[in-house]
Amino acid sequence: MTAVLVVNSGSSSLKYQLLDGDEQVLATGLVERIGGAGSIRHRGPGGEVVVDAELPDHTAALTLMMRTFASAGVELAPDVVGHRVVHGGERFSAPVVIDAEVEAAVEELAALAPLHNPPGLLGIRAARQAFPGVPQVAVFDTAFHATMPPEASTYAIDTELAAERGVRRYGFHGTSHEYVSQAAAAFLGRAGRFVVLHLGNGASACAVSGGRSIATSMGLTPLEGLVMGTRGGDLDPGAVLHLLRTGSSVDEVDTLLNRRSGLAGLTGSGDLRDVLAAAAAGDERAELALGVYAHRIRGYVGAYLAHLGGLDALVFTAGVGENSPEVRARVVDGLAHLGLQLDPARNEARERGARVISPDDAQVPVLVVPTDEELQIARHAVAAVG
Ligand code: AMP
Repeated sequence: MTAVLVVNSGSSSLKYQLLDGDEQVLATGLVERIGGAGSIRHRGPGGEVVVDAELPDHTAALTLMMRTFASAGVELAPDVVGHRVVHGGERFSAPVVIDAEVEAAVEELAALAPLHNPPGLLGIRAARQAFPGVPQVAVFDTAFHATMPPEASTYAIDTELAAERGVRRYGFHGTSHEYVSQAAAAFLGRAGRFVVLHLGNGASACAVSGGRSIATSMGLTPLEGLVMGTRGGDLDPGAVLHLLRTGSSVDEVDTLLNRRSGLAGLTGSGDLRDVLAAAAAGDERAELALGVYAHRIRGYVGAYLAHLGGLDALVFTAGVGENSPEVRARVVDGLAHLGLQLDPARNEARERGARVISPDDAQVPVLVVPTDEELQIARHAVAAVG
């Protein structure tokens, strides 16, 4: 039996999941507010516990996690630890067992992902201290997109400068797109040409052909593409120059693009539930935001249908994609000429698990497939250590 601990480490939070060799989840938890007065919420066989504690750093967070397991009567002894690492750059196109060289490379890649790679490293270092001798595997959000053809990953700027600074499309959410496209293929009984829409707080579209990513909407960073909770996605790069030339600092534009854009920028709330409620109450800004959100997605669906040369399934996933019939309808309604339509009752049904939400006689099935990045990381971690 192989026990796998999956760690997803953010700057001030750390999510974890313990799975056994049969892919059964034994425990999950979230440590929050690392760096100060923090807390852990842990769910295991004994139920849920919440504990407050002073948490100066990620090592303290993992120590609290181990103590919480111990007080629930479980000795935490994973055979392998799988880490989510956001940016693998050009170097990592598959999961790797972490050694000093890999760690140094992940650290170097922080130049491309300053918000995301450093917290991943903190998690890796804390886990090495907590579980000495246990193999640790890095699973990269970018890796699944390594199969994109050059015409999809190349930005049309000066080739030498782009190569020197690593400016190209990498794509993100790869672990989710990979899991969901595999689950969709298993559900349909065949791999094919899929468009996967990962619509969560972050959002991206991916064109998958025969199990391989051939195009995706996020780029050098997770800022490009679809409208998200607090990121606006596609934007004329000239707008950034204009803002910089007319009084904004680099840090201000960074904050604008990462935190004050997307649904939050358009409506004041980055949570789609708030935007839907406001639109239902007649708020025009919220209605416009939903219009921009769906319009962008439809543009990508059309573009990817062209790149794929046809479509065997459109797949919705993540917080919004799995839970919002209204957003799914705003995306798909009116696309019958592309073979896409919804069955309203199936779309509205509050079900869990992979399901079809198009009519039986639809030309192209529309699916909802819940994502499970932790399970995919666990699978990769086990495979990487053989
Ligand atoms: P994720 O990043 O995948 O956890 O997705 C989080 C986002 O999903 C939240 O910010 C919400 O906007 C959205 N969400 C969750 N549940 C619903 C729901 N029932 N209806 C609409 N949006 C939802």
